[in-house]
Amino acid sequence: MIVLKFGGSSLADAELIRNVMGIIGKYVYNEDEVAVVISAMGGVTDQLLNICKSVADGTGAAENIIRELEKKHLETAGILLPVQKQPEVMAEIMSLCNELSDIVHGAQLLSEVTPRTRDIILSFGERLSAYIISQALKMKIPQTIYTDSRKIIRTDSGFGMAKVDVDTSNILIKKYFNDNKGLKVITGFIASDAAGQTTTLGRSGSDYTATIIGAATDARAVEIWSDTDGVMTADPRYVPDARSIEKLSYHEAMELSHFGARILFPLSLQPAMMKHIPVIVKNTFNPDHRGTLICSESNGSNGLIKGITSLREISIINVEGSGMTGVAGVAARLFNALWHSEINVIFISQASSEHSICLAVMQDEACRATQVIREVFAQELASGLISSVNFEKELAIVAVVGEGMRQRPGVAARVFEPLGANNINIKAISQGSSELNISFVIREADLRKTLQVLHESMFRKK
Ligand code: ASP
Ligand code: MG
Repeated sequence: MIVLKFGGSSLADAELIRNVMGIIGKYVYNEDEVAVVISAMGGVTDQLLNICKSVADGTGAAENIIRELEKKHLETAGILLPVQKQPEVMAEIMSLCNELSDIVHGAQLLSEVTPRTRDIILSFGERLSAYIISQALKMKIPQTIYTDSRKIIRTDSGFGMAKVDVDTSNILIKKYFNDNKGLKVITGFIASDAAGQTTTLGRSGSDYTATIIGAATDARAVEIWSDTDGVMTADPRYVPDARSIEKLSYHEAMELSHFGARILFPLSLQPAMMKHIPVIVKNTFNPDHRGTLICSESNGSNGLIKGITSLREISIINVEGSGMTGVAGVAARLFNALWHSEINVIFISQASSEHSICLAVMQDEACRATQVIREVFAQELASGLISSVNFEKELAIVAVVGEGMRQRPGVAARVFEPLGANNINIKAISQGSSELNISFVIREADLRKTLQVLHESMFRKK
């Protein structure tokens, strides 16, 4: 059994879908059992989000977007399917789009899109793409089955980013796979809660769908088909010399994806790691390339550092004051308050003098986060125990990741020396005790140069 997942950029139009169908066909020929997880066609989820936005803003654009989406999917079906099959498939596409219209009208009457309604609206992207592709595949592989993942993946009711109930999902998936033999074409991203309400796993969540299914069925591998030759040493848009990484450990891949590398939905490695199922990142536009193998072991001999990644539009907040030294609970109160305000903290560093705590959040949350912190420490601010809470914008975080750094002296020097030599100022540094990752904050304006300088010094061909 193998699970293949295809992302939206590999499914942006009929030609690309045909290419993907060719890849699937080869696997069906060579493997005993294949399951395919499908994302929405490229750009469709964004359009569905635009519908939600237009309803909330009352702009009335929703109806047009729905018609555009309908047209796009009808055209795709028209190219992929033989004439005699088209009426049936097109009728289903129109029926799905009508259902979407009805839901949107309902929301328009109330002038609001609740998180629950948003998830239902978003579900149409995957339902349309997986349906069309399953019908097109059926023409060549008759035992193809369209599978709505809402029947087999159970989550809580955390709409927008629901938490998977792994035990229940495993039972549902196993039973479904036992009862239904053949090539399964499964909707990524969507699931349902115990009451049968549609939920989603978070943006780019189809990767997660694939690994959940892979783990539940003890697949021999999960392949994530995307648009680069696997995971790259750095973002090729910044570093033209970036190259494909041959092998990563699960931990390395997780660190890279947490820091914004466009690899995988961060949670998606968890199920694979638990069951030691290899995850292979492949390129639909270059299918013969080996891609990147993510598995339990790293090949440490291949250098200290596997990849460099970065997050833009970051802000750091500095909390300073002599009153924090030796006082228990300051950090706890700080992070508790941010947690309650649902502000995600990306990076933390505290000097051992305890005179200041520095943390990074996304730039658009910086103002609110600063406010929240000022409120929590209002008393300390008034009495001068905390002297200031300030933020700085237009920053970026760079993370250097690799298990080879562990217990090896001199790595930090190798990272920071070239930056110093190139006059790049570092605002904050953090290294976790796992020693898998060194991350630091710089000015966003220095990002390109930083990545290039670091990449050159770390991956220079010897
Ligand atoms: N279609 C969803 C998104 O664009 C899920 C995915 O592509 O994995 O976020
Ligand atoms: Mg995607």
